[in-house]
Parts: sequence; structure tokens; C-alpha cells
Amino acid sequence: MALSTTTTTTVVNTAPTPVVIAQPTVTVVSLGRHPVTMTCPMCKATVTTRIRSECGMGSWLICLVLFLLGLELCCWLPLIIPSCQDTAHFCPNCNHHLGTKAMC
Ligand SMILES: [Zn+2]
Repeated sequence: MALSTTTTTTVVNTAPTPVVIAQPTVTVVSLGRHPVTMTCPMCKATVTTRIRSECGMGSWLICLVLFLLGLELCCWLPLIIPSCQDTAHFCPNCNHHLGTKAMC
């Protein structure tokens, strides 16, 4: 008498289940030369930005133009005058860099 074995095959549906990804809401705030009130994307708090003037491409460009015009003695002034520099905005809570407003 011979032993008989039966094999049962189970078909598993391997179709990928759809994944729903929630898209974060992005609010565009135009940054200027003054502090603005906005929601920080890092700490999610509504804050008024802390600003800092930084030398940017425009500052160095004015410096170069002044140098080429023969004003070597005052060509460094755009590097210290805030209105000739970029304005960087930071979150006062978490110190996250929120954006930079270029001088030009
Ligand atoms: Zn923050």
C-alpha cells in the first residue's frame, strides 16, 4: 500500500496596497527686509522672524563695481551697510533658517 501526499497551494494576492501620503500644507510667505509673522516649518509655532544682515552676492558686486570705478578706499562699505546686504530670517524658538531675502 502506497502513501499518498496531497499538496495544498494557497494563492496569496500580492497586489500592492495603495499608500496614502498626507501632503504637508505649505504656506508661502514673502520675506522682506523686516521681520514677518509666519509659521515655522520645524517647530510649527507662529513666530515673528528674527532677522540678520549677511553679505551676499549683491554686496560683493557693489564692492567690485566701486573698486573698478577707482573708489578703493570706500569699496568695503557695502559689506557693512545693512541695506546693501541680504536679510536672513530665523525662527526665534528653534533658530531654524526660514529663508533669505536677497538684496537685489
Ligand atoms: Zn521654529
